[in-house]
Amino acid sequence: MAVHSINPFLISLFFTFFVLSSHTLFSICTALESEVEDETPFTYVEGTGKGPREWGKINPDWQVCGRGKLQSPIDLLDQRVQVISNLGKLKRDYQPAKATVKNRGHDVTVTWKEDAGKININGTYFKLLQCHWHSPSEHTFNGTRYNLELHVIHQSSNRTTAVIGITYKYGRPDPFLAKLLSHISSIGKEEKDLGIVNPGDIKFGSRKYYRYIGSLTVPPCTEGVIWTIVKKVRTVSREQVHALRNVVHDGFEANARPTQQLEGRPILLYNPVVNRGS
Ligand SMILES: [Zn+2]
Repeated sequence: MAVHSINPFLISLFFTFFVLSSHTLFSICTALESEVEDETPFTYVEGTGKGPREWGKINPDWQVCGRGKLQSPIDLLDQRVQVISNLGKLKRDYQPAKATVKNRGHDVTVTWKEDAGKININGTYFKLLQCHWHSPSEHTFNGTRYNLELHVIHQSSNRTTAVIGITYKYGRPDPFLAKLLSHISSIGKEEKDLGIVNPGDIKFGSRKYYRYIGSLTVPPCTEGVIWTIVKKVRTVSREQVHALRNVVHDGFEANARPTQQLEGRPILLYNPVVNRGS
């Protein structure tokens, strides 16, 4: 991987891209109107007429799924990544708060019902809303797809969405899922109270992360989402992944959208080690 020192041009390029793209500008205003709730008329199986390649044709409001140029997930390929040390440490300021868990049919979602804190990206606050899981992972690293991906969804006051993605491979159990597993295994049709859930229990394991501008990975595939993918691949037990897969509706056991074209977008890698000693 080529390691660059700070390159102000790249940083300004990134923000110019982010600010000036009309596509993005439009999307920022509309990002996360809502992800599709409950049982949905899309699937992850190609050839059913409702698979990922058809999502843009199923509903007029979903056209960007097929035509968008800022779609997610993507493959995070080392050769395409620009390493930057002053992208800024990802600042999380989470707090324990009441939450519920729900089977949305296509995934299992934990929603915080009270103020569970926020993250800070370049001086903008994004409030924590919910998290959910995809199996296998949606983002891939150099073509490798792992076993699970957690999406932690945040939103700013101007309704821009920021998602933190954490990937997992089979190994030791994930402590955050371990605390929720008995509840997840027994979800019925109704939303279920979890009591207090501490989002601080979601571990990153690394300060390195990728940053790019993309979309929601389920219809309506709304663009303008600020993605942060933690570079470290963590571990999850097979039992935990099976529990998540057992709960969702038939046909959604595998709920990962295929990777989308990068379309010239920059992918930045925040690596705090780059500048050490210089
Ligand atoms: Zn997701």
